[in-house]
Amino acid sequence: MTLHLDDDELVSCVACGLCLPHCPTYRVTGEESASPRGRIAAMRAVQWSGAPLEGDFTRFMDLCVQCRACEAVCPSSVPFGHLMEGARETLASDTRYQPGWRRAGYRVLGRHRLLLTASTALAVGQRLRLVPRRFGLPRLALRRRPLVATGNDVWLFTGCVMDAWMRETHAAVMRVLAAAGAGVALPGPGAACCGALHEHAGLVEDAQRLARRVIGAFPGEAPVLVDSAGCGAALKGYGRLLGTPDAAEFSRRVMDVHEWLAARVDALPVPARRFPQLVAVQDPCHLRHVQKAHAHVRTVLGRYADLVELDDEGLCCGAGGAYAALHPDMAADIRARKVAAIARTGAVVVASANPGCAMHLAVAGLDVRHPLEIVDEVIRDGR
Ligand code: SF4
Ligand code: SF4
Repeated sequence: MTLHLDDDELVSCVACGLCLPHCPTYRVTGEESASPRGRIAAMRAVQWSGAPLEGDFTRFMDLCVQCRACEAVCPSSVPFGHLMEGARETLASDTRYQPGWRRAGYRVLGRHRLLLTASTALAVGQRLRLVPRRFGLPRLALRRRPLVATGNDVWLFTGCVMDAWMRETHAAVMRVLAAAGAGVALPGPGAACCGALHEHAGLVEDAQRLARRVIGAFPGEAPVLVDSAGCGAALKGYGRLLGTPDAAEFSRRVMDVHEWLAARVDALPVPARRFPQLVAVQDPCHLRHVQKAHAHVRTVLGRYADLVELDDEGLCCGAGGAYAALHPDMAADIRARKVAAIARTGAVVVASANPGCAMHLAVAGLDVRHPLEIVDEVIRDGR
């Protein structure tokens, strides 16, 4: 039995334990098996000693949120995200780790028309009170206004769930880009899903197929801007996922939308009035630990609102893509720490640049908005 992981990567952990306080599942459980160090030890036991894949090993891997906070603080540069994706790829191919119903759910994300139809059905169900609140869905729109391209200076990646459930956020982002003088091009249906959730689930071939489709939907050389941190991290990783020069070139064009705006912040209008409430900034893990682009949110949003920092050093909120749906109890326990950190700031509005985090935190009753929705509101109020 082997995990097909790179031995050099696996051996790079020196078991120092410095990552443990940054791991959300370790913080909740206090158990070594739920820590990065414990998970690496379990990977070694399978790869080097033939320990079984099913049972404890699968549970230890599955409980990881894949936040990559451990990777960001590791003094030995252990590529934990790569190791975890490799472990899950083997689990998905060699065990029943991803049963048919889960694979079918992930497949819907890449079929945009079906996703839109299902979302409309869910919206009707919400109006009829047939969808329990504990599902954590935002109030879905019965109708979605189409987005209209405004030029070709930059592309905006629209994605799957974000386009189906939060299209108004895209509209606000496009207005802010227009205020900065940028015309926005919109992709065709090929850009309907980035494949991040598939990759995290170990369904690497599905993720690669979606990545090739996304790359084909953004011809030319214009920057590809992303307003969802998880999708942005995935698109920036296509070079490694596909291992081709074209994919690497595409990834070089990808920027988080705040990253692009921060370099042009003086082109944005001077606010007539600032946002009236204090805003707590929540850093999505894939913006902070993976893209390392979280400072740009502050550069852009700080021009329009008074910001306050959390004191939890970017600890994960527990959303984790599909994690909150698959591990609701652990996700809620992790979220409780984030909610407490937000409460300590005294802010009533939270800015989050990732739709999954925004939805997960909103379930706890918080007023969570995309940073550029706040910027858009201030700019529009000043007109
Ligand atoms: S992953 Fe890095 S920080 Fe964590 S125990 Fe191993 S070497 Fe130390
Ligand atoms: S990726 Fe996040 S949840 Fe997983 S081991 Fe690292 S810190 Fe813990």
